[in-house]
Amino acid sequence: MSEKCNSVADEDDRVAALQELDILEGPREPALDQIAKLAQLEFEAQHAGIMMIDATRATFVARANIRLKSMPRDEAFCNIAIQRSEPLVIRDMLMDPRFRTHPQVARGLRSYVGIPLETRAGFNIGTLCVFGTEPLDFAQDKITKLQELAKLAMLCIELRRLAVQDHLTGCLNRRGFMAELDRHILHHDRAMADLSLAFMDLDHFKQVNDLFGHPAGDLVLQEVAALAAKSSPGSDLVGRLGGEEFGILMPGVTEASAVAAMDRLRLAIEHIALPEFPALRVTASFGIASLGPAKAEVAGLMAKVDAALYLAKANGRNRIVVAEGQPSRDQSMQPQTRRSGRAA
Ligand code: GH3
Ligand code: MG
Ligand code: MG
Repeated sequence: MSEKCNSVADEDDRVAALQELDILEGPREPALDQIAKLAQLEFEAQHAGIMMIDATRATFVARANIRLKSMPRDEAFCNIAIQRSEPLVIRDMLMDPRFRTHPQVARGLRSYVGIPLETRAGFNIGTLCVFGTEPLDFAQDKITKLQELAKLAMLCIELRRLAVQDHLTGCLNRRGFMAELDRHILHHDRAMADLSLAFMDLDHFKQVNDLFGHPAGDLVLQEVAALAAKSSPGSDLVGRLGGEEFGILMPGVTEASAVAAMDRLRLAIEHIALPEFPALRVTASFGIASLGPAKAEVAGLMAKVDAALYLAKANGRNRIVVAEGQPSRDQSMQPQTRRSGRAA
C-alpha cells in the first residue's frame, strides 16, 4: 500500500489547495455529475460520486444514485483513499480484515473503489469513487479506466476555476465575482446577516502607465489585488471587475467594519513601493454600501456602490464614500483624517 506523506503542515496546505479550487461552494458542475455517471455505468455499481475532503467533512460534489450530500470526514472511506497514491480497492469488505469492522460496513457498505484526485501540486483533495451494498466483481482494466476518469474530473475542476479567475492578478474575474455576489445576496436574504460591498478604482491609473509603462502598471495591479485579499475579511471574495477596478465582497461584515477594512487597504495602496520603480505612487477611491440584518433591499446595492465610488472620484479621489443614509460626512478637506465620507 502506497502511503502519502501527511504532516500537519501538509494537511493545512492540502485543505488550502482544496479551498483554492472553490469546488465546495457555488453551483453544481454538470460535467462532474456526468463523470460520476460514467464511472457508475462502467463498474455497473450501485453508486458513484466525486467526494471532496476538507478539514472536517467529506462532501459529494457529484453524485450518481446518491442522496447523501456530506458526512463527517472520519466516517468516509474516501478519507482513507486520499491518504494513498494508489487506488483503494475493496471488492468485499467482509473478506477484508482491514475494513470488516468499519462502521460503514455495519450500515451495509460492502464494496468500494476510490481513486485519489490529485492536484498539480500533488495534494489529494478527494476521490472519484464507486461503491455498493454488494461485493463488486470487475476486471483490473476497469481501475485503469476509473483512473482516467479521475484525471478528467481533476481537469474539469481546474478549468472551472480558471473560468472565473483573472489571469493577471489571480483574484476572481468579473464573471466569478458576480456569481459570488449573486450567491451571497441570495444567502443574505435568508440569513438576514450583514453584508458589505466595496468597489475600488485606482486613481489616474492611465498616468501610471504613461509615466512608468504598462508592465509597471501590471505589477501595481498584482500588488493591489494581493493587498485587497489580505485586508478583506473573506480573502477569496476579491474580484477584478475591469481594467483597474476591483470589487470586494464582505459577507457578515458591518458597514463600520467594512469602512475600517477598506481604509486600511486605501492606506496600504498609498504605501505601495515597487523596488523597480521607486518614484511610482498610486492611490485608490472606494464606494461602499452595506445591507444590515434588518434590510434586504439588495436590488440597488451595486448601483449604490457605483454611485458612491463616482462621488469619491468627484470629491477628489483617494477616499472612501459610503452610500446612502446620513447627510454627507465626507472629510476630504481634512488631509489628516481617514478621508471617508457618506453619499447624501
Ligand atoms: P480615474 O482616477 O478617473 O479612474 O482615472 P484613470 O486614469 O484611472 O481612469 P481611466 O479609465 O481613464 O484609465 C484607466 C487606465 O487603466 C487605462 C488603462 O491603460 C489602464 N489599464 C486597464 N487595464 C490594465 C491592465 O491590465 N494593465 C495595465 N498596466 N493598465 C491597465
Ligand atoms: Mg481609475
Ligand atoms: Mg476605472
